[in-house]
Amino acid sequence: MPTYGERTIAFERGEGLYLFDTEGRRYLDFGAGIAVVALGHAHPHLVKALQEQAAKLWHCSNLYRIPGQEKAGERLVANTFADTVFFCNSGAEAIECGIKMVRKHYDHVGQPERYRVMTIEGAFHGRTLATLSAGKQEKVIKGFEPLVEGFDQVPFGNLNALKGAITAETGAILLEPVQGESGVKPMDLDYIRAVRDVCDEFGLLMFLDEIQCGMGRTGKLFAHEWAGVKPDIVASAKGLGGGFPVGACLATEKAAAGMIAGSHGSTFGGNPLAVAAINAVLDVMLQDGFLPQVEKMGKLLRDKLETVAARHPKVLAGVRGAGLMLGLRCVVPNGDVVAALQRNGMLTVPAGDNIVRLLPPLVLEPQHVEEAIGILDRTCMELAAA
Ligand SMILES: *Cc1c(COP(=O)(O)O)cnc(C)c1O
Repeated sequence: MPTYGERTIAFERGEGLYLFDTEGRRYLDFGAGIAVVALGHAHPHLVKALQEQAAKLWHCSNLYRIPGQEKAGERLVANTFADTVFFCNSGAEAIECGIKMVRKHYDHVGQPERYRVMTIEGAFHGRTLATLSAGKQEKVIKGFEPLVEGFDQVPFGNLNALKGAITAETGAILLEPVQGESGVKPMDLDYIRAVRDVCDEFGLLMFLDEIQCGMGRTGKLFAHEWAGVKPDIVASAKGLGGGFPVGACLATEKAAAGMIAGSHGSTFGGNPLAVAAINAVLDVMLQDGFLPQVEKMGKLLRDKLETVAARHPKVLAGVRGAGLMLGLRCVVPNGDVVAALQRNGMLTVPAGDNIVRLLPPLVLEPQHVEEAIGILDRTCMELAAA
């Protein structure tokens, strides 16, 4: 179906930060398949892990124990707030699991009327019916009404509006610590902490969408760690499988109390091949020094981007974001910047609010920053002259 508009280049292979198209042209990949290829293309450890697992067992169903799934779950629990994990195949499915968990939780504690989930303007939670109903973005919901019932939305960063919108039917607040699709908007850490307090005050579940900002992207395994809060439910996907399609819904024992045998399931979720990818990603990401290096590289990239933006005020208005999830605020249409960068051999991703998103693989090195800055500088010069 023509759901993706016109596409021009096709890639044949990738290596680290680079992609090579069918004509042999090399591109510096600062999109990483939209924050997915966290360890770069064809990372030797991931390739080896998948090749070895592929030769042994791809799939067997969750009717049986899957040791690799138990291992991945235990590692996610050991390194996060979570007590328990459900594995699925995508971000939207991880959010769906969280939404179902919220409803089931309140049913379990005898308050089934508290099924409503509050979301934040600018949210993107996926494209299934429930997740697009949660996000409420005009261009995502258009033509797909009626929406799934049970979602309310409040303005970004406004704590009073959020408190004022809580009713006896509210069960959870769902937010992205750094909004991605709407334009790389980090939430204030104070706001995130205040939302935790509100959840405690009103007995609500704090449900975070860390599908894009999690898995090391901001320099912590999950972005909420910067705020020092303990959420109740977190959805993960994108970087979690390093390019293999996976998702996971992490939760506390309390939030997941209603999720018992038979209440949820997935044919493919957490199958041996998928969890081999997750475990291989965790092998690398949990090594000492990996996350601090992401933070360091994020600072380096951001500093250099600020300088480029200052040099080209006719094209760029500034930089925002967190870690290696950065957005260039554009003066000219962001689509023109993305296209011009692509012509000059660098891949980026457009976002809302006239933003160009930079989401490089987390294994970025200073030489890649230099190369990106060179291409960006040249591209801005061309755009300013046009
Ligand atoms: C990508 C994304 C999703 C949806 O993930 P899919 O794997 O495409 O279903 C949900 N929330 C956020 C914040 C995302 O970035």
